[in-house]
Amino acid sequence: MTREKGRSSILYSDALFPILQGRIPGQLIIQYTDVCNALCPQCSMRKTEKYERSKLSREEVCRIIDAAAEQRVQALSFTGGEPFLFLDELIELIQYASFKKIPFIRTGTNGYLFSNWRRQEYVYEIHSLAEKLARTNLRNLWISIDSADPRTHEQMRGLPGVIRGIEIALPIFHEYRIYPAANLGINRNIGGTGRISEKMVQRDDFYREFKEAFERFYGFIIDMGFTMANVCYPMSIPEENAEQGESEKEGTAYGAASDNNLVSDAAHGSNLVYGAASASNLVSFSDAEKVQVFKALMDTIPKFREEIRIFTPLVSLYSLIRQYSGSSDDSLPCRGGIDFFYVDAKEGNTYPCGYRGKENLGKFYELNIKNLKEKRACRDCDWECFRDPSEQVGYLLEAVRNPVKLIRNKTSEYRRLWNQDLLYFHRCSYFDGRKAR
Ligand code: SF4
Ligand code: SF4
Repeated sequence: MTREKGRSSILYSDALFPILQGRIPGQLIIQYTDVCNALCPQCSMRKTEKYERSKLSREEVCRIIDAAAEQRVQALSFTGGEPFLFLDELIELIQYASFKKIPFIRTGTNGYLFSNWRRQEYVYEIHSLAEKLARTNLRNLWISIDSADPRTHEQMRGLPGVIRGIEIALPIFHEYRIYPAANLGINRNIGGTGRISEKMVQRDDFYREFKEAFERFYGFIIDMGFTMANVCYPMSIPEENAEQGESEKEGTAYGAASDNNLVSDAAHGSNLVYGAASASNLVSFSDAEKVQVFKALMDTIPKFREEIRIFTPLVSLYSLIRQYSGSSDDSLPCRGGIDFFYVDAKEGNTYPCGYRGKENLGKFYELNIKNLKEKRACRDCDWECFRDPSEQVGYLLEAVRNPVKLIRNKTSEYRRLWNQDLLYFHRCSYFDGRKAR
């Protein structure tokens, strides 16, 4: 216990050191592969999309990890596609990142391995998986859950039986002190298929439907045995561009099939390089709808925060609500391309994030991230992986740089929520997925 506590404080002093130098602790998301075996309608990497799939080689990823360790990147995520399709190599890479002392190593799965729970060897296989992961310093493992209704989730993913399999697997993971997080991507099916209308009719009804859906969702994952949860904000394409996006989708296997693997994205007037987005109405929301969705989530989270550790910071939701209500100055700009980066599976190139695909920064191991010239203040999307820490840690950075300006620019409600989140995060051991709480 004492040793763990000591280790944590060393980790956090490491993480806080860059702030004193005007930086946020670095984060790198490696899209290890875009191969996937699921059918998610909200994603352009689903297995039915026809395009040439890729996976980064072990050697390439090791070079990236070497460079990340050298540049003192604090958080490293392996994403997909479905990274667990290459499980043995993935575990080796996690082990390598552990050896290189990257403090926050994360990965996730769509859960396909858990849909085989009827097999005789299932329990043995999950023990074996948990044991292998437990030997690494993997800090967080997420498992995607799209809906409070098991059938809806399984149909969306194309993974029959997966919910029961996860329920069986969770206590086994816990035995090895691995506490996976349920990862919800906000969509209109959270409360079950067809429960939330395709277009907002009445603002109050829409808010109420989402509030009920979020409540059902948290209740559902707690009953499943999860002890942690995260929410991915919707990557919407604006209404006026959705039609264009849909036609691109039909014409070029949206999100992947173009010559250069860039995902055409009418939302930013640029190109996505990460295909986990879609023009589908299931995940597309107007700004007015987003305000209601974020309000519903913000009003739901406090009710469940003591029962399950919830990553989503209230201050981030508060800022997004204000941004989509027209007060954009209130949210802190995203650190994508400044302290946070994304490497794609096809070419192994670096981008400011998965959504600014026109800004190819080349190989990560040839970059000196400190010396990058362009430092754009960006709020172009709601990718929570980058927006949430930018908001939270960005506030600390502003506090060090110019505390007077910060106090003047932020509302008292913003400051109250920021403090409340910090206390909560501290009580949750900053979401250490190797601790029960
Ligand atoms: S959301 Fe994930 S699991 Fe689903 S199709 Fe996309 S990459 Fe695959
Ligand atoms: S807000 Fe962040 S993640 Fe989104 S496009 Fe801008 S830099 Fe990228």
